[in-house]
Amino acid sequence: MVDLYTQYAQIKPEIDKAMEAVLTSTDFISGKAVGEFAAGLGAYLGSNVIPCANGTDALQIAMMALDLKPGDEVILPVHTYVATAEVIALLGLTPVFVDVDEHTFNIDVRQITAKITPRTKAIVPVHLYGQCADMEPLMEIATRHSLYVIEDTAQALGADYTFSNGSKKKAGTIGTIGTTSFFPSKNLGCFGDGGAIIANDKALAEKIRIIANHGQRIKYHHDVVGVNSRLDTLQAAVLNVKLKYLTEYTAKRNAAAAYYDEHLGKLNTVRIPVRAKNSTHVFHQYTIKTAEDQRDVLKKTLEGMGIPTMIYYPVPLHLQKAYLRDGFGPGSFPVTEKLSKTVISLPIHTELTTGQLEYICNAIKKTLSA
Ligand SMILES: *Cc1c(COP(=O)(O)O)cnc(C)c1O
Repeated sequence: MVDLYTQYAQIKPEIDKAMEAVLTSTDFISGKAVGEFAAGLGAYLGSNVIPCANGTDALQIAMMALDLKPGDEVILPVHTYVATAEVIALLGLTPVFVDVDEHTFNIDVRQITAKITPRTKAIVPVHLYGQCADMEPLMEIATRHSLYVIEDTAQALGADYTFSNGSKKKAGTIGTIGTTSFFPSKNLGCFGDGGAIIANDKALAEKIRIIANHGQRIKYHHDVVGVNSRLDTLQAAVLNVKLKYLTEYTAKRNAAAAYYDEHLGKLNTVRIPVRAKNSTHVFHQYTIKTAEDQRDVLKKTLEGMGIPTMIYYPVPLHLQKAYLRDGFGPGSFPVTEKLSKTVISLPIHTELTTGQLEYICNAIKKTLSA
């Protein structure tokens, strides 16, 4: 699905030098590179960035910083990675699922208002597979009902959302708080775990910084209950190098997606990804849809030809044992349930060659016409 070794090999001298500087300085915890990275990503996004240990922690810290309390309801798409729902449940909040749009795979904004109750405190849109949820109408709903918005940007770092007045904002900087992940296979990935929280508001950013650091502004003085969630200096050193290439990496992912579009778009057995009108796509995943009875056959056949694919996600959250609620069952979220049986994500990364893309497209054509 990804080729992290080849990507590393392309920039090895720079990466090795940056990591060696950390090794010789031994400032492994909260070292110089961490501050540099926070500033660098902050400049790229035009916001305040607080690095942390991973994208799941980023979501948890965001919810802690907004003082969400047990019993508060948080609205999120049901078609997402478990982390989004997990931290809500972990904090004693109530996850309130909303189905997604079958074309963009993102939260169906038209279904949000019906889920709002007096206990609703926040909406967590997930910019799935690399393009933004429809943030303009979502922000209008949030403003009307005084709700916080936490954007899960783990899959869409670098995507731009365009508002109807023509103004543009980067994913993660539109709502109250944004969160992201630097898991190795994410668009900006480090060599282990990493994450960050994004907040436009300076005071909120400071509160987040304190929560991520044991609730302390001054060492051994704990004003609030916090957590220990840090980005390692070594990971920050890697990210400082890779951040310089993010624009180029996004362009390479888009080039691979364009190749797939061109070669798979005409097949009537496949639906290529639909581009949202008001968002750029950074193609964290290139996810196609097939007929239900062809999806698993396709996966298996491609596997036999040495082509990895992934199903994001095979079991919808509302049907997972940990998140089953009274009344939920098959049929509760029909779009998500259908997607769990029809989506399949193809290899997409920064090192795909035309030869590899051609091999993959030919294999898909052959399998689906057989
Ligand atoms: C990867 C991911 C996360 C979690 O990130 P980690 O760094 O693995 O904790 C959260 N949400 C979404 C949508 C993700 O894809």
